[in-house]
Amino acid sequence: RSKDRGGGVFHAYEPQLHADAEERRVLELELRQALERRQLALHYQPVVEAASGTLRGFEALLRWNHPRLGSIGPDRFIAIAEETRLISPIGEWVARTACEEAARWPGDLRVAVNVSPEQLTNPHFVTVIASALVQSRLPAHRLELEVTEGVFMREGTGATRVLEQVLDLGVRLSLDDFGTGYSSLGYLSRTRFSSIKIDRSFVVSAAKGVPEPLAIIRAVVALARSLGMATTAEGVETEAELAMVRELGCSNIQGYYFGRPLPVAEAREVIRRGSTNARAA
Ligand code: C2E
Ligand code: MG
Ligand code: MG
Ligand code: MG
Repeated sequence: RSKDRGGGVFHAYEPQLHADAEERRVLELELRQALERRQLALHYQPVVEAASGTLRGFEALLRWNHPRLGSIGPDRFIAIAEETRLISPIGEWVARTACEEAARWPGDLRVAVNVSPEQLTNPHFVTVIASALVQSRLPAHRLELEVTEGVFMREGTGATRVLEQVLDLGVRLSLDDFGTGYSSLGYLSRTRFSSIKIDRSFVVSAAKGVPEPLAIIRAVVALARSLGMATTAEGVETEAELAMVRELGCSNIQGYYFGRPLPVAEAREVIRRGSTNARAA
């Protein structure tokens, strides 16, 4: 729009730029206090086995219940947390809280926790995870850590060594948002991933009949299988998407079709009812 005004281009953008910087500065200050003020919460999204629809566990997703702004999603504050090193205490809280919650769940239900590359540059991270497991008494194999390809772009930070040490604890590891970053088959075969999560963008376009993403999902499923890894299709919302990822042989499915990320009490209710269809509630 501002382009039409010719010379006014830069002026037209300034107020917005200023507002963004201001919002960021305020959020950064407030994020420092969010933990101690108990404004952070985890929501839990069901992950089900594709073939049977059986509930396998939940992914823990961070929310910030901001006093003025309401519920804020991680896309608006994780980057700030990473840049200010607040990600360490926040990530520690996430791991402890998720392990304590999952320890109450019956059977072998798993909890998946997102870990940003920044956390893995801290050698103390291994101790954090070990301690979260010990204190919650959650068996290590019921904790799954999700990392993105970004972890492998950090040569020289020690991130991959920390990852190896965490894996030695017996936790599972999955590769999140696969296909959206700079994928390399090298680290895929070198790292002990239990599963590959196929990004929602592939699911959406493949279900619309676009041939390339369809071919990619098919190839990733075959690759994962031959490396002894499972696959999780992310962001399955519709009947058509569900049918497609089942047909392609994805092991697990996650998405609004089976349930949105739920507050802890509602996640427990899903477990109690033995049904993953949160929409039926
Ligand atoms: P992610 O790990 O790829 O998580 C999946 C995201 O997709 C979540 O967004 C989830 O709510 C959303 N989603 C799930 N099913 C569907 C669906 O069917 N349709 C659509 N449109 N979206 C779906 P959310 O909760 O906003 O989280 C965004 C990202 O923030 C996560 O992506 C993850 O990278 C990061 N994140 C979340 N919690 C944490 C955390 O505790 N620590 C760190 N470091 N990052 C986190
Ligand atoms: Mg994730
Ligand atoms: Mg993902
Ligand atoms: Mg994502």
